[in-house]
Amino acid sequence: LLSVTGLTKSYGPVEVLKGIDFDVAAGEKIALIGPSGSGKSTCLRCLNFLEKPSAGEIHLDGERIGVRLDRPMNDRQLAPQRAEMGMVFQLFNLWPHLSVTENVAIAARKVRGLSAREARELALDMLAKVHMTHRADASPLELSGGQQQRVAIARALAQKPKLMLFDEPTSALDPELVHEVLKVMEELAAEGRTMLIVTHEIAFARDIADRVLFLDGGRIVEQGPARDLILSPREPRTQAFLRQIR
Ligand code: ATP
Ligand code: MG
Repeated sequence: LLSVTGLTKSYGPVEVLKGIDFDVAAGEKIALIGPSGSGKSTCLRCLNFLEKPSAGEIHLDGERIGVRLDRPMNDRQLAPQRAEMGMVFQLFNLWPHLSVTENVAIAARKVRGLSAREARELALDMLAKVHMTHRADASPLELSGGQQQRVAIARALAQKPKLMLFDEPTSALDPELVHEVLKVMEELAAEGRTMLIVTHEIAFARDIADRVLFLDGGRIVEQGPARDLILSPREPRTQAFLRQIR
């Protein structure tokens, strides 16, 4: 479904991604782990050209992202490609002046061009998936962090993406709220969705990911089946990282 080759990103003289290659098959769950500053967020942001890669190619379903006929695409041209990747960030960034349902519906309207009624119906369906139907008319300001993140997941789902990208979706949450978000993600995984997840929740990665990529210093140092990599990493750097966060 997704294929990344030679992905490189520099900020000025600093090369943050040094040639990343990986593929994601439809329905596959991939966890991206690694120390702070290793380039995990940059990698996710490059996939949909929120950051422009310095080199390399990204293809989704055979279509190259961000470039057509060797020319870079502008934001308007990129919008339909970005819609195929539903992003969930550490901070949820819901609109405080809109209701929960409106926050989700607006994504469906803008990105998929649905009518107000269709968007509302889709929004309510997606809120049911994240178990937030009971707060459909609330303001995001009345919700806990875990609830807000579930709404943000519903908003990403409402774009009807082919691929879901998560960037540390639970790391801004109080510990007791982490579980409800992981549970929703686990349910999405069980539905067969394709997911690329940056996370420090190693037990979660071990249990739901098919494959884990360990990123360090802008390179994939090691990758493999989730249980193998997490329970018996081969590379010293992976071993050191896992030991330290346990
Ligand atoms: P964390 O676990 O802390 O979220 P990360 O693996 O997501 O880390 P990135 O946010 O991708 O790491 O950052 C990788 C490196 O790129 C860091 O050294 C960071 O300082 C640098 N960097 C990121 N964004 C920019 C930017 N806009 N301009 C300059 N340097 C940047
Ligand atoms: Mg990050």
